[in-house]
Formats: sequence, C-alpha cells, structure tokens
Amino acid sequence: MSDDAAFEQHPADTEYHRGLPIGEVLDASSLTDGLPWAFEKITMRPLEPMLVPEKPRNGEVDPQNCGSCAPSEFTIWHDEHWQVRAGWDVGGLPFIGAIAPREHWLLEDAPHEVLAAYGPLMQRISQAVKSIPGVARCHFARWNDGSAHLHLWAMGRPEGMMQGRGAVLAYWDGILPPMAPPMAEEHIRIVAEALAAGGGEAFPTR
Ligand SMILES: [Zn+2]
Repeated sequence: MSDDAAFEQHPADTEYHRGLPIGEVLDASSLTDGLPWAFEKITMRPLEPMLVPEKPRNGEVDPQNCGSCAPSEFTIWHDEHWQVRAGWDVGGLPFIGAIAPREHWLLEDAPHEVLAAYGPLMQRISQAVKSIPGVARCHFARWNDGSAHLHLWAMGRPEGMMQGRGAVLAYWDGILPPMAPPMAEEHIRIVAEALAAGGGEAFPTR
C-alpha cells in the first residue's frame, strides 16, 4: 500500500470552512484593480476542497531527511545560529535568499536565543541585499508550507519597480527574464561579503 493510499483526508469542518464557496470560480479583480499592478487579467481555478489532516511537510516526520539541516554548497553565509542559502535556481529578481536556523527548529519550538538573534540579522540582510546595484528594497516572507524547518525568504525588489510592490514580488522571479549566471553570482557575493563583514562566515562550504 502506498503512503498516499494510507493517508486518509476529509474536508476541514470549521465555521470558517463551512462558509467558503468550494467549487466556485471566484472573482480575482482585487489583484488587477487600482494600483500599478502586475496582472491585467486573472482567471482563478475553482476553489478546491480543503482536506485535513494535511500531508506532512519535508522534514516533519523525520528530521533526518531535512534539506535545511544537510550541508549545502548553496550556503552563502552562516554564523552560530543562522544560515543564508542562495543560487540554486536563478530567476529574474536580483536576489532571493533562504534564511534558516542551522539546527532543526520549527517556529513553534525554536529557542528564544535563536529567535532573538534574527532581529539584528534581519536588519543586516536588508542592508546587504540593498547594497546590490539596482535593488531598492528587501522584502521578507515566511510561509513554511514546503519544509517544516523554520525558514524565511529575503527578496530584492528592483529599484523603480512599482509593479513589484508587496507580495506579488515573489511571482515576478519566475516572470522576469532570468539573470545571467555571472550577474547572479556577483549579487550573491555582494550579500555574502556584506553579511560576513558584520560577523559569521561567507561561503562556509566553498
Ligand atoms: Zn531541518
């Protein structure tokens, strides 16, 4: 029997879920109206049933299989508590980095010492990303739907790109033409060296 066959799900049944128009195609004009927005026209897929329990995320059942815990050639910087990885998939944004604790912590169980170190690091990452030529701002995101290991994203928003304001910036990485590899590597080097200037080590596995 496959894992999928053994994994039984049923529709989530809360007051919130009972009020949702499952199966309907919803109006997405809130994504196209008003601002100098990215989308001209969006057609949504029908709202799918929301099934529970959800399937486990990577590293959730067995942390031995957690990619964020394993050494990586894409680690561009680390210190005692945190690591930043970048460069495994070059897209169109000037920089995208994944920020994670070095140990297998979830947001729910991470020691306060580790979480407290993130505040100053967030400031340093923002400054490092903004030191890339052509970057106006550093956006941060935390979803954690793919991997259980606590991780956040840092994204460089191109200067002057009003269509990249807010959460839509993440989508632009796959829409803008990918950077040439030498430019991507140069941007990674700028961020890694700027971070290491404030402590920790750049390219610990290179
Ligand atoms: Zn992990």
